[in-house]
Amino acid sequence: MSSLAKATEQALLQALEDHQDDLFEKLGQLVAFKTVSPTARNTTPLQEMITTQLETAGFDVKTQPFYDTDTLVSATLHGTDAKAHNSLLLNGHVDVATIADQDWQTDPFTMQRNGDLVIGRGVSDMKGAMACFLYLFDQLKALGVQLPGDLKFQSVVGEEAGEVGTKRLLEQGETVDFALVGDTSDLQLQGQGGVITGWVTLKSQKTYHDGNRVNMVAAGGGLKAASMVEKMVVVIQALQTLEHYWAVTKSYPGFPAGTDTINPSYIEGGIHPAFVADEVRLWITVHFYPDENVDDITAEVEQQVLAAATADPWLRDNLPTFEWGGESMLVDKGEVFPSLELDEDSAAIQLLEVTHESQIGEAPTVTMSTSVADGGWFDYFGIPCVIYGPGTMSQAHTNDEQASFTQLLTYTKIIARFVWQWCHAEKPAKEN
Ligand SMILES: [Zn+2]
Repeated sequence: MSSLAKATEQALLQALEDHQDDLFEKLGQLVAFKTVSPTARNTTPLQEMITTQLETAGFDVKTQPFYDTDTLVSATLHGTDAKAHNSLLLNGHVDVATIADQDWQTDPFTMQRNGDLVIGRGVSDMKGAMACFLYLFDQLKALGVQLPGDLKFQSVVGEEAGEVGTKRLLEQGETVDFALVGDTSDLQLQGQGGVITGWVTLKSQKTYHDGNRVNMVAAGGGLKAASMVEKMVVVIQALQTLEHYWAVTKSYPGFPAGTDTINPSYIEGGIHPAFVADEVRLWITVHFYPDENVDDITAEVEQQVLAAATADPWLRDNLPTFEWGGESMLVDKGEVFPSLELDEDSAAIQLLEVTHESQIGEAPTVTMSTSVADGGWFDYFGIPCVIYGPGTMSQAHTNDEQASFTQLLTYTKIIARFVWQWCHAEKPAKEN
């Protein structure tokens, strides 16, 4: 790296220090938009403001409708020699968790400052990181920085309700050398396990009055029929058997044993006491490890349940059916968060570790998130990624949500160093 480039990186860090009031003001602006989810369908005004800021900072911005009054924003600051240099994508969501049933000491949408703490909905998850990104872009523009590689940015919505804003943008053919999701990680580098929800349905061909039960269950009754409530026990036991088997046989560094749970989280069905239950649906939540994928996991679950069903004289002629995932917990009652494996030997992760350490003075923790965020979608589409953001999980979604302003400013400087160095680095020569 030339000494001129180094000087300019230092100038950028100095500018971020000098103009930190702008970061505070920007975060306050973001918090003031009531983008709670649920109810969702309320982010377009905020996304319009972000679009204006990105355009002012020199980005080429594309917006697209998602749901009603929910908009997705993707933007590129074109590099001066993009073909030869690394590209980077910064991703975050602007929807925030609901404040329903929470007692707040202050207005959640009027950001407060108490010493080093900023207080307001989303300061930890994750309007804090979004403000840091936008603040950095402003300072790049103010200093006239021209990065050789492309710097991309996605401002998505829907993450809080399992909605696929990030997936929608990536499936349109995004290609980038590395992505960083700024979701809440307390400045730890994180990957994640995956989660998928599914419905298992048992359905009887015919509906019977309760008076027929005697003929279904008593000796000599002669009626081959069954209660779906009782048959769901077969399914639940099969799931428990598989959950136990996974706990014993599978593991992944950074996860306590048995983290790969199968939760029978919700059940609905039957008609009322004058009927034998003719249809029951079980909603399950399946957690899996970073080195596993959605398709293999759902196949394993189906195989286990179908094997148990095939051993049951009634179920074998009326096999369970499965519906997996969904694109929104609010619309189709399902969600998928694919897993994210970290490649700790990759140049990008190593550079992020170095930039973190040079800013903070100690090496970052590299670990696995106890939650799920949009980082898995990048892995799903083959884009190397890390989850790395300010704020703490204990503050996410809670009342009087707080973040350290010092940490936000430190985060901005680390990202600035990382953006600078990554987008100045030449792409490695392609092996053929
Ligand atoms: Zn989040």
